Amino acid sequence: MKADVELTNETESFVIDQGADLVGVAPVERFQNAPAGYRPNDYMPDATCVISIGIHIADGVCDVWGEYTEPGKSITPYLFYGYGLLNLEMGRIANRTAKRLEYAGYKSLTFPPTWAIGHYRSVGMLDMSYLGADFSHRHAAAAAGLAEIGWNGLALTPVFGARVRFNSVITNAPLAPSPMYEGPAICQPERCKKLCIRECPAGAFSSTEIREVVIGERRFEYPKLDMIRCMYGIFALVKGSGSYSGVEIPPGPGDIAHFWEAQEQQDLRDRHMIENCFGIICGDFCGRCLHKCPAHLYWRKGAGGKKGAKA
Ligand code: SF4
Ligand code: SF4
Repeated sequence: MKADVELTNETESFVIDQGADLVGVAPVERFQNAPAGYRPNDYMPDATCVISIGIHIADGVCDVWGEYTEPGKSITPYLFYGYGLLNLEMGRIANRTAKRLEYAGYKSLTFPPTWAIGHYRSVGMLDMSYLGADFSHRHAAAAAGLAEIGWNGLALTPVFGARVRFNSVITNAPLAPSPMYEGPAICQPERCKKLCIRECPAGAFSSTEIREVVIGERRFEYPKLDMIRCMYGIFALVKGSGSYSGVEIPPGPGDIAHFWEAQEQQDLRDRHMIENCFGIICGDFCGRCLHKCPAHLYWRKGAGGKKGAKA
């Protein structure tokens, strides 16, 4: 199919005008090594490409994140402006982009940007250590040339590092592909001594099991994430996640039964926050592997940006 360059430029400009900081187009061929059932064509057989949309999380919001015991720190700007609001913004932009393409005659599909809703299918799986979203926006960002997958498993961009949220629009529109990122390495574990792993308060990253992901022509490796252990951080149960609670996580692989039991030990202040705000208003408590990652400092001045990057 011949790419429509004019439609591509118009669509990318529309995404940026709606408030996104990054946009790129990934042809579906770059997803051929993704797990069966999670590829764009599994959901839309005639899909031609995926539009990846990124919104930067402000540095001030990430840098101020810290424990309630630390002077001058607060988790709340990140919870709202780094998670809740950004995901709503992201959903709004993707939804408008999808409908605009449909009005032009091209079917388009979006998934939720994040939240538990995106993991609903995998919650029923026997292997609860893997909670996969219906569609990986991070991998789509790498496929669209906006990012590399870092050692923390997040999509790292040359300008913003890990400080970006992504969403995707799967479409059968004939959009022109963006080139894959080929610049200098964005993740530099030898430089930061794997700060993301050292900072994780739940010990959620495996020290022995490595995941390998092939996206387009690029191959990325990063440690397997134990999602159950991570959930102690996300749900404000473990010290270091920004919470008052300090549940002890048993050694070894995450135990879902213990995780549910641990809710009973949650500090009432955290329970109040979770019950009143979790989801739409705020989001995952922890995110330490995101806002502690220094990748945004490495290339911000030198690497330029992708289309629409405003740094
Ligand atoms: S902290 Fe960031 S740059 Fe360092 S290893 Fe982790 S992902 Fe890579
Ligand atoms: S969100 Fe927190 S608990 Fe989960 S992997 Fe990242 S640092 Fe660890």
